[in-house]
Amino acid sequence: MKSLILFILNLPFTLTGIVPIILSGPYDLRLMKNPSTLVFKVKSFWWSFGYMKNARAMTIGHIILLGPKVLNNDFEHELIHVKQCERYPMIYPLLYLYELLKNGYRKNRFEDEAYSLSKSVYKK
Ligand SMILES: [Zn+2]
Repeated sequence: MKSLILFILNLPFTLTGIVPIILSGPYDLRLMKNPSTLVFKVKSFWWSFGYMKNARAMTIGHIILLGPKVLNNDFEHELIHVKQCERYPMIYPLLYLYELLKNGYRKNRFEDEAYSLSKSVYKK
């Protein structure tokens, strides 16, 4: 129930994920309950730029996109971002942006937590 409420609170942000889903060529969808998450397998992140360039996976609200170059623990990494989104309902995108501008991609506290808890690999 709590997970559903958090999902609804974050819905405006999650819905912005529709554009990246369509652009990335989704071919598989899996629904998860805890945290409430839509997991798409996609063909390519050809459209990505800036810090997202060369991304293997991405999370937008409660949507996870897994690209063709996904490695071990990348899914766990993205799941941590969904949990962060639940921890800071509605304001997470702003907090993430603030951290990104202040500390860059790898050293922002949300990425730092996701990389260390998931033991996923950072490659430039
Ligand atoms: Zn991340």
